[in-house]
Amino acid sequence: MEGLTKEELTKLVVQMDAEEMRIRAVAGTADSPVVAPTQREHLDEGEVADEKTVQRQGDAMLKHYRRQLADIEAARSRMRSGQYGVCIDCQQAIPFARLQAYPTAMRCTACQNLHEHRHPRQAQETLRQACAELSSPS
Ligand SMILES: [Zn+2]
Repeated sequence: MEGLTKEELTKLVVQMDAEEMRIRAVAGTADSPVVAPTQREHLDEGEVADEKTVQRQGDAMLKHYRRQLADIEAARSRMRSGQYGVCIDCQQAIPFARLQAYPTAMRCTACQNLHEHRHPRQAQETLRQACAELSSPS
């Protein structure tokens, strides 16, 4: 593995640890109710709706945090197996600058862009439909 020096790797480990602690701190408070049940008796409809919105946002945030924690865990396991910092698509070293911005990145910038623009199923479906339309003269 040539891409990352030991120093760079250490920096990224520290960065991921800090990120994980930050997420855990925020996710921990998101789990507990903001208002105690006994204080909720005199809410009018608007307030109830607000509360539901907050709840929904909280759920979305929690999912987001869990995803981030899973990404961090996956990155750590790649570190253990010596595959960290190597693009899973083209097997090239991912630039340190990119890893600093996204310590959990699995792909180099080029492959990530390709991956995001590909949208596998949707693209295939569109292609199939286009082919079907072309090959069936009506
Ligand atoms: Zn790549």
